[in-house]
Parts: sequence; C-alpha cells; structure tokens
Amino acid sequence: METGIHLVPRVMGERFSTTNPATGELLVEYAAATEREVAAAIARARQAQRWWGALPQICRSAVLRRFAALLLEEKDALARQVTRECGKPLQEALLTDVLVSAESALFYAEEAAHVLRTGQVPHANPALRLKRGELRWLPVGVVGVISPWNYPMAIPAADALAALATGNAVVLKPSELTPQCALEMERVFIRALHEEGIPVQPSPWQVVNGLGPAGQALVEGEIDKLVFTGSVSTGRRVAQAAAERLLPVVLELGGKDAMIVLDDADLDTATSAAVWGAMMNAGQTCISVERCYVQRRVYSRFVALAVEKIRKLRVGDGLDAEIDMGPLITPKQLRIVEEQVEEARALGATVHIGGHPLREIGGNFYAPTLITDADQTMRLMNEETFGPVLPVLPFSDDDEAVALANGGGFGLAASVWGTTTRATRVARRIQAGAVLVNDVITGFAVAAAPHGGMKQSGMGRSHGRLGMQEFVRPQFVDVDLAPRMKKLWWYPYAGNFAPMKAFIEMAHGKGLRRLRAALASLPLLGRKRT
Ligand code: NAD
Repeated sequence: METGIHLVPRVMGERFSTTNPATGELLVEYAAATEREVAAAIARARQAQRWWGALPQICRSAVLRRFAALLLEEKDALARQVTRECGKPLQEALLTDVLVSAESALFYAEEAAHVLRTGQVPHANPALRLKRGELRWLPVGVVGVISPWNYPMAIPAADALAALATGNAVVLKPSELTPQCALEMERVFIRALHEEGIPVQPSPWQVVNGLGPAGQALVEGEIDKLVFTGSVSTGRRVAQAAAERLLPVVLELGGKDAMIVLDDADLDTATSAAVWGAMMNAGQTCISVERCYVQRRVYSRFVALAVEKIRKLRVGDGLDAEIDMGPLITPKQLRIVEEQVEEARALGATVHIGGHPLREIGGNFYAPTLITDADQTMRLMNEETFGPVLPVLPFSDDDEAVALANGGGFGLAASVWGTTTRATRVARRIQAGAVLVNDVITGFAVAAAPHGGMKQSGMGRSHGRLGMQEFVRPQFVDVDLAPRMKKLWWYPYAGNFAPMKAFIEMAHGKGLRRLRAALASLPLLGRKRT
C-alpha cells in the first residue's frame, strides 16, 4: 500500500488507485479487470449459478441471514471502511450502508419463498378445464450489477442480495472510487457460505473491479440481466449497449428531488429535515433534497430557521464521530457544485450561507449552502447538483407547489410537509417513484419498499418484493389431464364452423339461448379428429 496526498483517483494503464476524499491519502492500488477477466468472472458466476440455484431456497435464505449477522458483527470496521473510501460521516456509514445492507438481506431471506412460490393458473374456457396450469418463477441466471460510489455497500448489496436470494449468481462491478467496500461484502458473503457449511467453488457473488471499460465489458458480456445505478448520461450509454443485444436492464439514475413545505407544517421539524435531507452525505444522495418549495406565508421564517441550523453543522473528516458533514467525493464533483452556485449567483440568486469551498480543511470540502431567489432557468434548479446546497423558493398554493415539483426531467423521490390529510393529498399528485409525507430520504431504508424513478430517473425497481421480481422470469407450465383426448379445434375443419360458433354461444351466452347452443355444439364431440 502506498500513501501520499492525491485528490483524484489515478488511472495508470491497467491499474487504478483509490483516495480518501477527506485527507487525500492514497488508499489502495488495484488492477482493472480486462475484458477477458470480466468474461472469466461471468463464466465462474454461470458455473456457480447451477449449484446455488439448485439449493433449496431455505438454504440460500440461511446464507443471507448469516450474511446479515456477520455485517452487524463487523459493523464498526465496515462503517470505517465506507467512510475512508467515500467520506461520509461514520453514523451515516453505519446506518445507510451497513444497516441498510443487513436489513435488505433479512428482508430478502424472508421474502424469497413468496416470490418463488408457484402459482395456479385457472382455465376459464370449458374446453380447457381438463388442465392444470402452473406459473413458476425461475432465476434469470447471471445478473450484472454496476454500482456508484455514494452508497458503496447499500446499493450493490440491495441488488446483489435480491438476485442471490432468488437463485441467481451475480457479477458486481462497483464504482472505481469505492472498490474495497464491494470486496469486503464479497468476503463477508463467502464467510457466510462457509459458516453455513456450504462449499464455495466458485462463489455465486463475483466482483470485478475497474473503470468504465470494465462496466462496458460486463454489459456486453454473457449476462442475463443488468442493474445499473449511476448517472443519467452513463445510464443512457448502458441502455444503448443493452438494447443492441436485447439485454433486460433496470436503470436507477439521478434525481432532482423536491421538498414541499405547506404553511401548516411544523417549521422546526421541516427545517431540520430540509437541512439533513440536503446535507447528509454532503448532498451526494440520489434522493437528497435538491429543491425546496415553501409556502409564502412561512417562507421567510423557514429560511431564517434553516440558515441557523446550517450554521451549526460541523464539517470535516467523517472518521471523526463528532462530524456532521464530510467532503465531496472528488474535485470534479466539487467543481460541478461550485459552477452551479456561481452561475445562480451571477443570475441573481442570493446566497444566505456557504456558497464556497472550504479549502482550509481539505481539497474536497464545500460549505453547506442555502440559496434563495433562484429560478427554474438556472442549472441549480434543473440539473442534479449532488452537493450540500439547499435552494429554497416560495409558492402560493397547493396547485403551484405540485406544478413546480413536477417540473423538470427527473422523478425519483419527493417529500411533502404539512398536516397529514392535506400533505398526503398533495403527495399523491407528485410524479416521483416515492413520495414521503413528513419525512425525507428514509424510504430507502424501508427494506420492503420499492425504490426507483419515473421520467429520466430510470426504469424498473430495486428493493422490496418488486426489486426481487426483477430477477425472476415467469414460466407457464400447463398439464393436460386427459392426455389421450384429441382437441375439438384440431383438424379437420370441414363441418366444424357451425358447431364451433354454437360452442362459443354456449360458453358465453345466457339462459335458453345457451341451452340451445349447447345442443347445437354437440356434433363437435362426435367428430373424428385426424
Ligand atoms: P456514474 O454514472 O459515473 O458511474 C456509475 C457506474 O458506472 C460506475 O461503476 C462506473 O464505473 C460505471 N461506468 C462508467 N462508464 C460506464 C460504461 N460506459 N459502461 C458501463 N459502466 C460504466 O455515476 P456515479 O458518479 O458513480 O454515481 C452518481 C450518480 O448515480 C448520480 O447521478 C446519482 O443520482 C446516481 N445514483 C442513483 C441512485 C438511484 O437509486 N437512482 C442511487 C445512487 C446514485
């Protein structure tokens, strides 16, 4: 391991390295997987899927439960690993990565039996009654998972574990900024297999490290489904490559989440929520508060209270447990935030607090910021900022709030604050995959709740039962219980048409007409089929 001050991950041919974003310390150097190595990992996963998919579901669920227990046993070390790689404060690493991953594993372990349960398919037509129809749910096979850096355990874990619980094997390509978190999870999973007495040759959870080309090799490799979580621009490229080979994909992309504060909201709670929702993980959360709309009557009180709460935030190295907010992940991310704030300022927005980098504490820190007088034409209000910036705008009535929240190209999540009945009524009008009433972000931690977006925020779902259903494909098996009986609709057709019409009238007609039709359809039974 080499140490030194490097603010950006270095890419050197086939090798790349990770950096602690708070200190600039060089962490670990990795070999980027080549196309051949990605193909080899997919082949190992294919081989593993055969034995893993053939295990009784209760054995797979036992491995997931053991995995959850081991994550919780190692929670302190794992949280520190998350913080070292992506900078978030320890408490966030503990709750939003380690705990969310463990609770996902427990949910999937419980839910797998329901998702995989064979269903019955009824046969309504009287001519098809002598059949028994089954709807089976089969694993799709090998699932590729490509994940971002901002929740380096929770995001890959939620996808990989849902796929594993339903009998699939997984090849995970984590972000090049946080590969160690993925390797740690792979290690814990292998330990769980050992502790359940299951020999691991090879593991159904494979990890390949690398940058974009490794992800591209996975998309183009022999996988059966892909879950991609990342930016809209990469998501579009991935979707195009997947379309080329008709690979089914789930896309979990960016957001520009709105928070609506109605004038009957509790302002103390709503301002705390806005500050936490915008600043946690330094604003680098796909479902963070990126736009806050506050009803005019309470607008100035809201702004004043929020500014006071932002002033109290302690910014620094997330490994210090007293810190509220850590650094941004890279100088590139810091530049995006700076550019959006500077553009808004130049176009007339007012910066009440923050609005500048904190170079005195490190190269990737940005001051928590509150902005008013922004408008919908600014990038700050339309593009994902992914930084600790809270723009607050006023609105007059519920209709205007809904129109503002529904503006723009994203639809990941939103929140509405106010008395329950009114806020819920407004929430149901928002075009987003998840809308929380009087809470923010926490929907992601509800293991049973689906996560995913509308509009450019993506397609398909992760988390919850819907997330698991992405990894199974239906198979209809129909068993004819009269195997020696030739069907009424087979050849020859000559002389069949009139009694066939009568048969349909018998099946769908009413009263006396139905009785007459039954008699007229009788010749069908007496006919000899070829
Ligand atoms: P990104 O798009 O830069 O990278 C995501 C992953 O894609 C990385 O592993 C990267 O190596 C890989 N990749 C890059 N080029 C590729 C290619 N051509 N083919 C295949 N894979 C490729 O995103 P990021 O910066 O890591 O993450 C931040 C973004 O992710 C934000 O936009 C955020 O909103 C979004 N995000 C969305 C969700 C969600 O659930 N909707 C959750 C977290 C983050």
